[in-house]
Amino acid sequence: MHVRRKLVAGNWKMNGSLAALAELAAIAAAARMAGGVDVAICPPFTLIAPAVARSGGLAIGGQDCHGDESGAHTGSVSAAMLKEAGARLVIVGHSERRAEQGESDSIVRAKAEAALRHGLQAIVCVGESEAEREAGKALERVGAQLAGSIPDPGKDGELVVAYEPIWAIGTGRVATPENVREIHHAIREALVDRFGDAGGRIRILYGGSVKADNAAELFAVPDVDGALVGGASLTAAQFVPIIEAGARS
Ligand code: PEP
Repeated sequence: MHVRRKLVAGNWKMNGSLAALAELAAIAAAARMAGGVDVAICPPFTLIAPAVARSGGLAIGGQDCHGDESGAHTGSVSAAMLKEAGARLVIVGHSERRAEQGESDSIVRAKAEAALRHGLQAIVCVGESEAEREAGKALERVGAQLAGSIPDPGKDGELVVAYEPIWAIGTGRVATPENVREIHHAIREALVDRFGDAGGRIRILYGGSVKADNAAELFAVPDVDGALVGGASLTAAQFVPIIEAGARS
């Protein structure tokens, strides 16, 4: 069995400001104290460089990148630009982007490949809708997204999968440990089928209303290698207990 170090990554979405970066010092201090867990914050693009300057060693990442190197893509940011700004990782294929920007699996895969080409860790998000879960199609949907969105893994640790059931994102509804166990197990099997041993080393995060009071229970589920955290990553007060739960697990 591979030992995968937990990763707790915060996704600030379209929230935050220069003033909000004051939270980073306490988050970085807690991450250092806790030890044994990787911690990252992904603020909006405009805050990446100032966040890196105030990161206290935390990994700072983007929330998206384009699949191309450069060109006529108004409003987009390339993986190289993120890297130059000091980012160490990037989230791609978040369900909000898949829904709002119409991103297909092949677009998401191209973004993940661009990230890996530039030495960024790529967190590739997958997850079913509520209708798909109710129709008994959660595994099928996630399997199809994995097949279409996940690139070859590159260096160990650089590719990360985040399972984020859409109905649990920002809703306060958390998938039950049993739901999470079933899907993470299936994701692990798919990764090992496709990549062999390297598939066993890819971290699989859970995302969807992770909070201080449910993190420990989720981290105890086999094949849960950390969390992608939205709302509860915006303040150190809410995020630090999740980091500590990751370190204890
Ligand atoms: C997310 O945005 O990836 C997320 C999981 O959000 P929340 O934790 O707020 O549900």
